[in-house]
Amino acid sequence: MKPANRHITACSRCPALICWALTTANGKRQPVNAEPDSQGNLAVSRGADDLLYVRSLTKAHPEIRAGEWRAMPHHATCINPPPRRGSDHQRTGVRPVPQRRPW
Ligand SMILES: [Zn+2]
Repeated sequence: MKPANRHITACSRCPALICWALTTANGKRQPVNAEPDSQGNLAVSRGADDLLYVRSLTKAHPEIRAGEWRAMPHHATCINPPPRRGSDHQRTGVRPVPQRRPW
């Protein structure tokens, strides 16, 4: 299985093609790479409502069910991922500047 063309869109931060899927765990939107990936740790499926759903595969349960395909979370491969808030990941040269009001 693969995502349908109507599910595929471009990442807003890099030229990669992605699909937005809802996590089965908490219904949050998560970008996954459009191209199925045998190394991916996600199982994507299309719901009866024509939305894509994603669940995490674990080492204990890496099996793909009927109708699912394996995909990589786009965060893992995005060449320009959004900065993570609250992490101590160091970014050199980029420092948020507080907005100064002209009045
Ligand atoms: Zn990206």
